[in-house]
This record gives sequence, structure tokens and C-alpha cells, in this order.
Amino acid sequence: MLLIGKGKVLTRNREEPYYENGAVLTDGEIIKEVGDYDELRKKYPQAEFVDARGGVIMPGFINAHTHIYSALARGLSIKGYAPTNFLEILEGMWWNIDRHLTMEGTRASAYATVMDCIRQGVTTIFDHHASYCQIPGSLFAIGEVTKELGLRSCLCYEVSDRDGEEKCLEGIRENAEFIKYTRSLNDDMLKGMFGIHALFTVSDRTLERCVEANDDLAGFHLHVSEGPNDLNDTLQKYGKRPVSRLMDRGILGEKTILGHCIHINSEEMDLICATDTMVVNNPQSNMGNAVGCSPVLQMFEKGILVGLGTDAYTHDMLESAKVALAIQRHNAGLPNVAWQEVTEMLFYNNARIAARYFEKPLGVLKPGAAADVIIMDYKPYTPFSHENADGHMLFGMNGGQCRTTIVNGRVLMKDRELTCVDEEKIKADICQTAAKLWKTLNG
Ligand SMILES: [Zn+2]
Repeated sequence: MLLIGKGKVLTRNREEPYYENGAVLTDGEIIKEVGDYDELRKKYPQAEFVDARGGVIMPGFINAHTHIYSALARGLSIKGYAPTNFLEILEGMWWNIDRHLTMEGTRASAYATVMDCIRQGVTTIFDHHASYCQIPGSLFAIGEVTKELGLRSCLCYEVSDRDGEEKCLEGIRENAEFIKYTRSLNDDMLKGMFGIHALFTVSDRTLERCVEANDDLAGFHLHVSEGPNDLNDTLQKYGKRPVSRLMDRGILGEKTILGHCIHINSEEMDLICATDTMVVNNPQSNMGNAVGCSPVLQMFEKGILVGLGTDAYTHDMLESAKVALAIQRHNAGLPNVAWQEVTEMLFYNNARIAARYFEKPLGVLKPGAAADVIIMDYKPYTPFSHENADGHMLFGMNGGQCRTTIVNGRVLMKDRELTCVDEEKIKADICQTAAKLWKTLNG
């Protein structure tokens, strides 16, 4: 048992939201009790003590959309790469990288992403992977890394026609096999979804094959109307809008995640809502790619479950939330909107999304919930309580303040030191792999 105490406990449990001098008691993989520190200390004197030193004890963050495959791109420059639109970004950078990603590259990318997540207090990720150089076994390799280091993950492979039929079929098989594997494991640390890149890179025949291979075992995870090209492609080739095409192909549903949804209209929102399909917003990535602003406020009005991801632009969920707030206000021309929506997305909706895959409640500190707890080294100089904590989060806190990360009752980082891995050694290995990849890309 771990007693994580001597800090401000922010539970995200609306019934008991806050303890000024609180503690969380974990028992194995779950939280046993949350309460006042002095009381719990007296009640459980034998529990191993984790000192929050006056920081904020809170649930670990959930990232509802990210890409492990992009990890080795930091600092990379590719000769001649000067994109003028979203498609050129994909072709010149991301598809170029994943076409050269060997199994070694995939593993290195996974280690890099997982270590970064742990450092930023992210305890669960929904990843969307591509490594067209070497597809078979890639999800299994990532799963081994997330399991080894202790991060909770839900993985999928992005099926696409862009590299020909053989690669497309390999991607389909990888998803199907991985989903079956995770179901047979029945492990709350590792789940699988069926990944599809985006409608403009898959034919109807491919969608059919995906639905057949998935066999109703999981939901789909794909990019929808991220750029205007996705909308135009479907309109031109199929005479309908992307969400209607997904509806007709049986892709929508309560276990499916649609990333982005920028260029969707009101009727498409109605379809998403009626099928209880999930949407994940990635504001920084959208701004960086200059693809537009997702109609998050309208989707909330419609009652759609909208969560927050990063698209691997960052692994700091607070950074993503800050940008989500700014882009919505900027886009609306109103400085008084989106607060409610953005905080709901990060602190509650991501937990609701996770609940569609993971058995134990995530994103909340309460008895029976998963023991995914972080300690933020944040000492406010203005009054702090659960009533204004979101204001502190969005204007005073960042992921790098995370000092201790506990996932599934296991301490992965303590006082900024990773306890789950030999960080220096792994970093050196990643760096070598990255250098090799960069040379290939510029060779
Ligand atoms: Zn993405």
C-alpha cells in the first residue's frame, strides 16, 4: 500500500472534490481511500509514504489522441521540405518518417514518448501508430514498451491505401491480431482499437475489409476532416460528406474516436451525436498545420462527447488545454467562451472516453478507481481550492511540474527521477536510432 499525502488533493470526484491537507491510499492497482492526511496516516501506519511536500495530488492525465511514430522528429530537418499545405506536410514529413521506421525505430519512438508522458504526468494514452517500413508486430512492440515502463495505453495501427494493397492488408492484420491479443490478455493496462488513417487515403473496399477484420470487437480510431482536402476528396469521389460516408460504412459508434473533425457541418454533428461517437480535439496541431479550428463549442451544444488530445505536438496536456481555450476564443471573437468546454474535455470527457475501453475508472481519485496518481510541484501564491483549481491549471501549471507519477499503483517517476527505466541508457539508444533515421531521410 502507498499513502500519497501531505498535499492538496484534487480528486475530480464531484461528490468529494478536495482535501486541503489530504492523502490518497492505494492498494495494489486501485485506490482504496481518499481523505484527510492525518486521519489516513493514523489508520494506515504501515503504508509506504509518498510525500507530496505541499504540492497538488491529482489524477494522472489522459491523452486521447497521439502518435508515437513522430517521436524521433524533434530537431529533424529534411532537405527540400517546405510544405505549403497539409498534404505536403503529411507527404514530406510524417509519411516520409513512417516509411523509414523500422522495428528498432518504432521501439525507440515508443520509449521516447512513454518517458515523456511519464515526465508530464500523463498516465494513459490513445495512440495511433504508423510504420509503413515495418508493419507486422509494430503494435506488439509498442505494447511491450508501454507495459515495461508502466504506462496505460490503447493502441491501433493506421490503415491506408497510400503504400499499396499489400501494406494496407498488413495494417488491417496488425489491428485485428492486436485487438484479439489484448482481449485475450484481459489486462487493464493494454487495449486495442482499429486504426484507419483518414478517408482520403482509403477506398470503400478497404473500409469494408477493416469492418470485416474488426468483427465488432473494438471501435475505430481515425482522422476525420482534419484538412479541407479530406472533405473535398469524399465529396468529389462519393458525392457525400465524410461523416455520412463513415455512417454508411458502419464505422461510427460509441467505441469509435474521430480525431479533429474540423470541416464538419451541422448534419454531420447530428450523425456523430446520434451514434454516440467520440471526437478528440488537437488544437496545437491544427494551428501548426494551418488546417482550421474545430467547432468544439457547437459540438458541445449538440451533446457530442469531445475529448482532448495532442496529436503528438506535445505530451503536456495542460499546454494542449491552454491552446484549446485560446484558439476557441480567438476563433469565436469572444473572450468569454470555451472555459467550461475545455476544462470538461480534459478533466472529465477524457475519463469518459477512457471508460469505453478500460474497466477501472480513470481520471478520478476515489475508492475503486485505478491507482493513477500524480503529484504536481505547484505552490500557489493566490488562494487555491477545487473551486478555482482550473484557473490555476490553465494559467499557473504545466506538465513539467509533475514530480511524481504513479500508474496502476506502481511508482514510475519519483521526485523527477524515472524509476521504471534506465533513462540515460535508453536516451542514448534513442538518439542513435534517431540519427540513423535522419541520415536515411536525408540520404
Ligand atoms: Zn493524428
